[in-house]
Amino acid sequence: MRYSDDKEAVITLTAGPVNAYADVLRGLGRTVLYDYDPAFQLFYERVIDKAQKAMRLSNRPVILQGEPVLGLEAAAASLITPEDTVLNLASGVYGKGFGYWANRYTPNLLEIEVPYNESIDPQAVADMLKKHPEITIVCVCHHDTPSGTINPINEIGAIVADHGAYLIVDAVSSFGGMETHPDDCRASIYVTGPNKCLGAPPSLTLLGVSEAAWAKMKANKAAPRASMLSILDWENAWSRQEPFPFTPSVAEINGLDVALDLYLAEGPENVWARHALTAKATRAGLRAIGISPWAASDAIASPTTTSVRTPDGIDEEKLRHAARERYGVVFSAGRGETLGKLTRIGHMGPTAQPIYAVAGLTAYAGALCALGHKVEVGKAVDAAMAVIDGAE
Ligand SMILES: *Cc1c(COP(=O)(O)O)cnc(C)c1O
Repeated sequence: MRYSDDKEAVITLTAGPVNAYADVLRGLGRTVLYDYDPAFQLFYERVIDKAQKAMRLSNRPVILQGEPVLGLEAAAASLITPEDTVLNLASGVYGKGFGYWANRYTPNLLEIEVPYNESIDPQAVADMLKKHPEITIVCVCHHDTPSGTINPINEIGAIVADHGAYLIVDAVSSFGGMETHPDDCRASIYVTGPNKCLGAPPSLTLLGVSEAAWAKMKANKAAPRASMLSILDWENAWSRQEPFPFTPSVAEINGLDVALDLYLAEGPENVWARHALTAKATRAGLRAIGISPWAASDAIASPTTTSVRTPDGIDEEKLRHAARERYGVVFSAGRGETLGKLTRIGHMGPTAQPIYAVAGLTAYAGALCALGHKVEVGKAVDAAMAVIDGAE
């Protein structure tokens, strides 16, 4: 049996975007209201209220009308000035990449970089801040998705707050899939989106912005205004009394509304638990067939993506291709430095269900066998099932 590339995959186990929840797809099909219809303005205000609740924010979040790279770039452009000294924390491709954006707005860039299967040590951040009291902004990626590893942002955030610096957090692929909120890590700007763990399509950014960050952006004459890249333009857009700076992505807001309803109704703790269990079962299954997770330790392995180290002698692209062709299962590749070295099995939103660990392991192990790296597929399944059935 073969699945051709021009047919939809049977199961999409990617690190985002993910297949959206069926209810979210139905939400996208709701009427596209005129943005100045009072009904839409009221609806928008309610969506912001739900996002505030989900993000456990004390002030209102901002929605930007583009997928989260927009939010990350907007955060750099709005908050960072040439007078700032930025400390960028890089434990992967996204963290590293943020430094390039930061460097556009200030020449003063310091960096802590660790191997891309490790995470940032908060003590190293404390030492760096002590050595460089001139640091005003710290940037960190919570879950560096191309590595499948988690940084301890709450510990880092406490240290940064003590130093009196601002903190920009990329939580795009962790928020909604594990316990993380802007206030927990004392973020100045916290960037996330609906297209990873919330199970909605790529198209919007959700931002948590602290009062201090609002003040700093307003004081920054060079911060984008009247621009697609502007955060400031959207400050009051939550209010039904205020005009939108330009037309919001109405259909996507419809989808986000449903995604937030699903998240809040299921209960965030329950959502996080099924992400964690799916990842745990996946790691157990891999180990049972002698395959190593990419992350240096389970403590930093992401609950929303399992990165699998590609065994020696295996062509990673061929491996993914075999899984797609033989079983109709799609995985994500690495990116940049991790490309070719690992495969990512995503557990985000609708696919963060333990039984998908079994499907993912089966397809992964079957593809390995097809490439001549013989493993006992059943052993992976047994180990995953033991974890799943052992969980209460
Ligand atoms: C998905 C993701 C983004 C958004 O970027 P894309 O490359 O456009 O998908 C940003 N940061 C992280 C950590 C992500 O996982």
